Amino acid sequence: MTVLVTGGAGYIGGHMVLELLDAGESVVVLDNLSTGFRWAVAPAATLIEGDFGDAELVADLLARFKVDAIIHFAAKIVVPESVADPLGYYENNTAKARSLLEQAVKAGVPHVIFSSTAAVYGEPEASPVVEDAPTAPINPYGRSKLMVEWMLADVAAAHKLTYTALRYFNVAGADPKGRSGQSTPNATHLIKVAVQAALGKRQGMEVFGTDYPTPDGSCLRDYIQVTDLVRAHMDALRRLRAGGGSITCNVGYGRGYSVLEVIDMVKRVSGADFDVRLSGRRAGDPASIVASNARIRRELGWRPRHDDLEQIVRQALDWERGLEKRLAG
Ligand code: UDP
Repeated sequence: MTVLVTGGAGYIGGHMVLELLDAGESVVVLDNLSTGFRWAVAPAATLIEGDFGDAELVADLLARFKVDAIIHFAAKIVVPESVADPLGYYENNTAKARSLLEQAVKAGVPHVIFSSTAAVYGEPEASPVVEDAPTAPINPYGRSKLMVEWMLADVAAAHKLTYTALRYFNVAGADPKGRSGQSTPNATHLIKVAVQAALGKRQGMEVFGTDYPTPDGSCLRDYIQVTDLVRAHMDALRRLRAGGGSITCNVGYGRGYSVLEVIDMVKRVSGADFDVRLSGRRAGDPASIVASNARIRRELGWRPRHDDLEQIVRQALDWERGLEKRLAG
């Protein structure tokens, strides 16, 4: 039995591949290398360069490798980009996911684990937000992912397939053993940007919005360490294989940090000062989003091991320092 990891050459997918291999799983990665890297895929996995929306290719892989679970990471993930290019997001994140699911059903793949997002909640009324809270995404990114959750629920009701949708909060940090990290050159995510500013790879940075209804006026997010996040997928896989039913779970720590707090932490851990410009709000950003993780603890037995912003920032800094060499190699 083999696990197919779409987007396995990317940031989160690359960590997932390591975790699966460490657990003795056989792994096939399907990645078009649009943002991922060949070198980010551990050599013990089979890398197929191609698109998860390519039905023929997917059908061939599912049959050839006897895939029993698909972990679907490949997606576009930048909120403001989704506002500027909604059709690109609906094509990639939604339409191609429909094609992938169709192939999964045709091939009789029993399990799917889907990378969903906290963005499906929009601006939640209660914090921390529970999975049964209303889904009301405020940007095309969140909508493009929520539609896949709906498809999964309908597919699981109609066919012999069980799934886990994991709603990620803000993923950050790197492999504690230093084997993998966030490598995308033009990444827009806060910790990555701040770390690049601290290392002089960019001229300072901007804070997008300081007039939100939050304690310091900047947005609050729940930063989840990437190894803890991928371990949630392992827990989900084990549960599905043991006959567990379909489920949707948040993956976060249940604690929010403001943009300004994160930047302070990066400055403190790096010992570097850098220019921080207070700017206007960015399109599509909710003010505050923090996870309740009661369900994933209860149903999947998941436990955080790296719930420490200082460590997360340290890992991101260490990875970023070594990145030039890797990108050159
Ligand atoms: N942010 C910021 N400056 C940056 C990048 C991000 O102020 O250079 C803010 C962003 O507006 C949001 C928070 O940091 O309030 C987290 O954004 P990110 O893009 O990391 O993740 P998102 O929550 O959009 O998935």
